Amino acid sequence: ATPMSIMVATGRGAQAGVLIRDAEALERFAKVDVLVLDKTGTLTEGRPSLTEVIALGDIGEDRVLALAAALERGSEHPLADAILSGAEERDVERLDATDFDAVTGKGVRGTVDGAPVALGNARLMEDMGINVAQVETQIAELQDEGKTAMFLAAEGRLAGIVAVADRIKETTAGAIRDLHGVGLRIVMATGDSQRTADAVARKLGIDEVRAGVSPEDKADLIAELNAEGFSVAMAGDGVNDAPALAAADVGIAMGTGADVAVESAGVTLVKGDLRGIVRARVLAQATMRNIR
Ligand code: ADP
Ligand code: MG
Repeated sequence: ATPMSIMVATGRGAQAGVLIRDAEALERFAKVDVLVLDKTGTLTEGRPSLTEVIALGDIGEDRVLALAAALERGSEHPLADAILSGAEERDVERLDATDFDAVTGKGVRGTVDGAPVALGNARLMEDMGINVAQVETQIAELQDEGKTAMFLAAEGRLAGIVAVADRIKETTAGAIRDLHGVGLRIVMATGDSQRTADAVARKLGIDEVRAGVSPEDKADLIAELNAEGFSVAMAGDGVNDAPALAAADVGIAMGTGADVAVESAGVTLVKGDLRGIVRARVLAQATMRNIR
């Protein structure tokens, strides 16, 4: 493409809130086959809120939430914000945790009132040898609604369930339809459970889902697609997705993400609106067509 046509395209993009880093990013984006999308903060608002607190053992709901909040006070995960805000709203007793430990991709652990407590996903419970079969149906129901369900264990026993929901951005469904329309194969990649991810994907018409993946797994997925001969764009937010953004042929950062993510991005969506990807794709292809 001529420098002039690239300038016109990036200028139009910028007006629409899509920052395209350079000519190379524009050219590469015209050739992308597959778009990998993170779920939390990319498809969804990224601000989950507490929806359910279920007591299972001999402690009540308020105690379940208070223990969960005690652990989450040490965490920087978006799930922690949801639980802490929920605990504040319901005005439960404030407890403090010691020996806090964040288990990446699984949850949090600590000691409260001298007893070991843990909050996280099924894998965390498995690691601790805690059986969750008795609540399988309950968990499945929550996950089928697109909610993220977490298990609370206290003193080595299952004590409760805490669930949160993160709203899908208003613009996401339309953007996914249009992205399919401009010829992109779409894959959702998330650290969340398969069932929750499937529920969100179903609502959006996304038919390929990789769930339970770590940030490194996301980068591996891109390498895998590259090895199959596909050119890949990855859209994600936050520090977590930086490895995948860097691994992709075109990294697309949500403008709301951390600077580290934006730095490794060829495209930045200023308002985190996925329709910007459609715009970038159309501009990229039009620019490249003009020079052939
Ligand atoms: P993502 O950021 O893609 O949602 P993560 O890899 O950070 O996924 O976490 C995967 C899963 O591990 C979460 O869906 C949750 O079940 C569990 N988890 C991670 N961090 C926490 C936390 N601070 N509190 C409770 N559960 C957590
Ligand atoms: Mg994440």
